[in-house]
Amino acid sequence: MISVRDFGTLTDGRRTQLFILDNGKASVYITDFGAHIVSFNVPDKNGVLTDIVLGFDNCNRYEGDVGYIGATVGRFANRIEGGSFALNDITYNLYTNNGPNHLHGGKEGFNHKLFSAFVEKEKLTLSYDSPDMEEGYPGNLNFSVSFELKSDELCIEYFAKTDKDTVVNFTNHAYFNLNGALSEKGLENHLMQINAEAFCRGDENCLATGEIIPVRNTGMDFRRLTNVGERLLGEDKDISANCGIDHNFVLSMQRGQYKKAAELISEDTGIKLECFTDQPGIQIYTSNFLDLKDGKGMVDYNKHYAVCLETQGFPNATEFSYFPSPVLKAGEEFYSKTSYKFSLANEE
Ligand code: BGC
Repeated sequence: MISVRDFGTLTDGRRTQLFILDNGKASVYITDFGAHIVSFNVPDKNGVLTDIVLGFDNCNRYEGDVGYIGATVGRFANRIEGGSFALNDITYNLYTNNGPNHLHGGKEGFNHKLFSAFVEKEKLTLSYDSPDMEEGYPGNLNFSVSFELKSDELCIEYFAKTDKDTVVNFTNHAYFNLNGALSEKGLENHLMQINAEAFCRGDENCLATGEIIPVRNTGMDFRRLTNVGERLLGEDKDISANCGIDHNFVLSMQRGQYKKAAELISEDTGIKLECFTDQPGIQIYTSNFLDLKDGKGMVDYNKHYAVCLETQGFPNATEFSYFPSPVLKAGEEFYSKTSYKFSLANEE
């Protein structure tokens, strides 16, 4: 069932809400402010409900957040080089909020918008109409994201429609710590597997350079379950150049095919999370720049405390014609689906 609570008042006086999706075994808390996932409680190996995502206790902390903690990211996840792109022979200029580049939708991305909420049975749909040229992007864009907690998975669906050709790239930016967000223990005991044969190289600003590198014989090879902490401490030059993993992995699947992208396990709690998507890429971000005081339960969030499994199109795809196209044409309907399935590592 879905219930609703007050989540506080924004500085401009608007009220926010917290929706609780509960299936009796697990629960997910989502706010209409920025369509953030606030909490995701799943049973650990002892049956103890464990909150596996980072977050905050009220809307005001999300208003000031620059780490996209649990956010729905739009219009364009990750970086766009130089904050501009060309489409149909027109150059569009975007806000540069990450050094010389545009990041996660700009000055005020979807993470800082108040969405309209609609509940139908077990599905929560949050909608936001982004006006033409908002943050420099063409087209009036009608965007919705829906969340549904099924028996053992959280399904997220993205819908969008534009009245002018535009570019889009949506994701959810949940930071997962399967020891529990309150555990104060980071990624060192996490195992990760990614269904990718290649990754996108980043430059010194973590901007995708256009190079696609095979993972074989590199520290980015997660084709088998691998300890994340050891890799972060290892010698791989791509990992050390970006202070950890902050890279798009090229998923091994047919275009548009809905398939398992990655898996994460905590050796302590036994919680296993599998991520499925129809998107071509997954940005794995090991919270390399995380430095936040007083998250939920007054826990501090530091470097390598959690990992984001951001299913999406390729970053900087406006720059490279050989990357999957981020163009959404006028009148076309964008649809995409991602799910996070939870279980226990030794359940099979
Ligand atoms: C990016 C990081 C960035 C983080 C927080 C991630 O998706 O890949 O480079 O620091 O989001 O903004």
